[in-house]
Amino acid sequence: MEDSRKFDISFLGEFKNKAIESEFIEYDMRRYAKVLGPIALIFGTIYMMFLIADYFAIDSPYAFTIILVIRSLFLVVSVVVSLAIKKVNNYINLPYMITAYEILAIIGFVVIIGFYESHTVLLFFSVTVLTLAIYIMPNRPIYSQFIVIFLSMPFFMFHAKNIEGIDTTVFLKIIAYYLIMIIYCSIGAYLTNFYKRKQFLDRRELLRVSVTDPLTGIYNRAKFNEEISQWTDNCNRYENIFSLVMLDIDDFKKINDRYGHIIGDSVIQNLATTIQKVIRHTDILARWGGEEFVILLPNTEINQALEMTERIRICIEKSKYHKVENITCSFGLVAHRKNEDSESLLCRVDKLLYDAKNCGKNVVVSEANKIGERVLEIDFQI
Ligand code: GH3
Ligand code: MG
Ligand code: MG
Repeated sequence: MEDSRKFDISFLGEFKNKAIESEFIEYDMRRYAKVLGPIALIFGTIYMMFLIADYFAIDSPYAFTIILVIRSLFLVVSVVVSLAIKKVNNYINLPYMITAYEILAIIGFVVIIGFYESHTVLLFFSVTVLTLAIYIMPNRPIYSQFIVIFLSMPFFMFHAKNIEGIDTTVFLKIIAYYLIMIIYCSIGAYLTNFYKRKQFLDRRELLRVSVTDPLTGIYNRAKFNEEISQWTDNCNRYENIFSLVMLDIDDFKKINDRYGHIIGDSVIQNLATTIQKVIRHTDILARWGGEEFVILLPNTEINQALEMTERIRICIEKSKYHKVENITCSFGLVAHRKNEDSESLLCRVDKLLYDAKNCGKNVVVSEANKIGERVLEIDFQI
């Protein structure tokens, strides 16, 4: 069971648990990455088009040239950002790029309006539009808030006072309305962010449940089918190899009959844990059905796989199970053949498991060993 505290969201709007926060940012930014490029291009173009307004308002050729340079540079930055986003592999760093981009836009904006000799009330609208754009841009909520403060503080302290025809009362009222707008936007952004995170957790849980066997917590059959298809495709295309093991508990019906289904269930659970302890973390273990398991051994040729499977067999045989004490399993083992599909592979391993049952059980049967021959008679310590 996962620790539920992982899912707590702090008042800053982020998961308190750093690992889950990183996972969310990675997921969220990956989703937005496709639209961020075009957004940056549109933003850069609009920023450039304001040059027309500058042309009619600025008399000094020197000031106009600087504004032209600033707006052109920002357009270039927008193009670079839209191209860089396509190349990003680590989405966790994308908020830094977005934040830096927004800060550049704001610095450019503040410098440009510094060149205006007089301002009209329209300046308030421009800062409002910029503020709304920042809230709309996908970013970590805390960064968006920081950027809005970074924008509004110098604007109201240095520029807004120069607007013609506005007395102190009107100026204060404008600040009040701007603050109200920021509060509304913050609440909206917080709620959107909160439900986005809730939705992320629901999706994550749904994905987990869809691939997990509820009794043992290991992969279920559907997930294994997906994995084996990927591995067969991969091995048919490249020079990779893998082996496949299928195992079934011997005389399990008797265990159920004698101890009941609850104890039977606990045997299945303990067996999964026992196998997990022996295999490598790269091996893929799944519950195939009832008391049958499958293991995909990546990059493992048949003799190596035979040794590994024999280890698993001995480990299972020597482990102690609640009430039942001892159990044994029979195994089928095959290696993937070039251009073979997963269905044929599963068919072959199933047949070898059947052979293992027919020749006395508690054995590994593969194409590499003789039927029923025990490969390793090692004293395996658990
Ligand atoms: P064999 O050695 O030939 O495998 O004999 P077996 O008795 O194990 O026969 P088989 O594999 O056909 O039987 C599987 C039994 O496992 C039948 C079913 O009642 C039981 N079983 C299947 N799923 C579960 C489960 O989730 N929990 C429990 N307790 N029993 C299960
Ligand atoms: Mg069985
Ligand atoms: Mg069975």
